[in-house]
Amino acid sequence: MRFGLPIIATGSLVMSAASIYYATVSVRSQWLGQTYWRGRTDRNAVALTFDDGPSPDTEGILDVLAEHNLSATFFMVGREVESFPGIAQRVFAEGHEVGNHSYSHPLYLFQRASETRDQVRRAQDVIAETIGVRPMLARPPYGVRTPAYFGATRTLGLHTVQWDVAGFDWKPLSPSQIAHNVLRKVRAGSIILLHDGDSAGKQDRKNTVAALPLIITGLKHRDLQIAPLSQLLPERIYAD
Ligand SMILES: [Zn+2]
Repeated sequence: MRFGLPIIATGSLVMSAASIYYATVSVRSQWLGQTYWRGRTDRNAVALTFDDGPSPDTEGILDVLAEHNLSATFFMVGREVESFPGIAQRVFAEGHEVGNHSYSHPLYLFQRASETRDQVRRAQDVIAETIGVRPMLARPPYGVRTPAYFGATRTLGLHTVQWDVAGFDWKPLSPSQIAHNVLRKVRAGSIILLHDGDSAGKQDRKNTVAALPLIITGLKHRDLQIAPLSQLLPERIYAD
């Protein structure tokens, strides 16, 4: 009797740690709340999303998108919006969608619930004050969702969007490597993750800017259109 209990307890502890990991970290997990990680697949279209900006390199991304007449979604960090309000305004003025990517890019897993709520709400307020519109979409830093995160997004009417394809541009990769990472995985309905800023403030995003024309050309060769996220997600999100 006395030997059995610790083993059972240890076993269930391991199980629940694995479950917490899956629910919070796995990009496609639906356990804690509804999450879109891929769009509709019947339109031969994909969506581009950029995280962690705005930053000075956002302007390079905007120039490439404008040249090709494309729309993307920018999941912005509130603190960076305060640093570069003019760039945030340019993103919105040029027809791109703006989403909530927290105020200062913490890992929600290690925060108190009240801190997480403040992060989501504060980013929402800063973005609304700067561009004049409240985001409808959110993406948590590192893709990590917690019950407190979903509590906050439900209150604010935010829908969570993850991704199914990443350029891995947070690693020191060349433009062609970033483009290759995207193009080898992409398919109809894909939501592509790239970065126009660096949450750690250490790296510029010149290689992502240079990768973007390669990605656009590669998608064209594959007959995949680049569409705004609003055309790939359920219409009711935008009807709310
Ligand atoms: Zn991020």
